[in-house]
Amino acid sequence: MEAPPVWAVLPPSTAADALSQLLTSARRLAKPPGASIEAVIFGEPPDSLRSTIADYGARRAYCVTCDHGVPSSSAAAAALAGLARDHAPRALLLPDLPQGRELAARVAARLGAGLATGCRWAETCEEGIRVVRAAYEGRASCTLLIVSEPAVLTLELSSATAPPPGQPADCELLRVSSPKPAPAGPEVLEVRPVDPFEMELEEATVIVAGGAGVGGPDGFALLGELARRLGGAVAASRVAVDAGWVPYHRQVGQSGRVVAPRLYIACGISGAVHHLTGIRDAETVVAINTDSYAPIMGRAGLALVGDVREVVAALIDRLDEENATLGSP
Ligand SMILES: Cc1cc2nc3c(=O)[nH]c(=O)nc-3n(C[C@H](O)[C@H](O)[C@H](O)COP(=O)(O)OP(=O)(O)OC[C@H]3O[C@@H](n4cnc5c(N)ncnc54)[C@H](O)[C@@H]3O)c2cc1C
Repeated sequence: MEAPPVWAVLPPSTAADALSQLLTSARRLAKPPGASIEAVIFGEPPDSLRSTIADYGARRAYCVTCDHGVPSSSAAAAALAGLARDHAPRALLLPDLPQGRELAARVAARLGAGLATGCRWAETCEEGIRVVRAAYEGRASCTLLIVSEPAVLTLELSSATAPPPGQPADCELLRVSSPKPAPAGPEVLEVRPVDPFEMELEEATVIVAGGAGVGGPDGFALLGELARRLGGAVAASRVAVDAGWVPYHRQVGQSGRVVAPRLYIACGISGAVHHLTGIRDAETVVAINTDSYAPIMGRAGLALVGDVREVVAALIDRLDEENATLGSP
């Protein structure tokens, strides 16, 4: 009997780049090594995607076609769960993006399968599938052992894609029709991130803080754009608060909030001792300042000498490029 395959699933409306990373991870989960890895995609694959599927070693690809346009997440989950029941894969790997997490949760619920989201690593082991995922907002990691099959995993994508493993596989393309959409039920129409100016500073894993060097409210709007892209919060020094650019509850320091994010980006902040008191437990500090001798530069793991607006605008552009590559919405 053939060993159960491992599936790399590209959800609807997801950039194709994710599939090569999922197929690379799927290879690690094939048991025994060399067991079939397969792809599931929604819609008719363009030539470039067909090549990726074959180059990354998938022996079979299920193309779920849908007469009614892009399937909703519940229709996609129904189709995927039906396929999984018919073909009994060992694991389904999806990208850890909003559309991947939603589809994974729906399909796991339909299959009664074990679900692990936000996985940084997944490998096969004697007892089942071992995954490593972040815990406590990234301050720790935990290892889970999934012993039931199929396992449904969402994997964090990286900006680097491993090269194809070797010879392209002979890939069989199978078309499957998606079932008709279910009668109206709850659908996620939009995922709204928390406003960086409202997110609790004590809960934020990333804080973009501004000081006098930011120059005014429009400068803080730019910091907000950076924070939004990083899923973080905006904070400020006392000088910026006293100037009325941001409300007092965003102030960090001796007479403000004490914070402990994983990443603290200090923009146009000198690093007076009263401010540093508030960030003594920050894990990594990045400072952007025109003055390379500002005290904050001594506290920073990465000190960027330059105009805050120019540097922040460049960071935003870079993040947008990365997100476009990774297919973030
Ligand atoms: C009792 C007491 C309590 C205090 N509590 C707090 C507190 O809780 N929090 C707090 O923050 N402060 C507090 N302070 C104030 C503190 O001492 C500093 O005055 C304050 O932190 C300085 O804010 P700042 O770094 O934004 O401004 P500045 O010290 O004026 O520094 C501005 C920085 O921006 C840089 N810069 C200028 N233009 C640019 C540009 N275009 N691009 C990049 N960089 C640029 C400059 O080189 C400079 O380093 C307290 C003071 C006292 C006496």
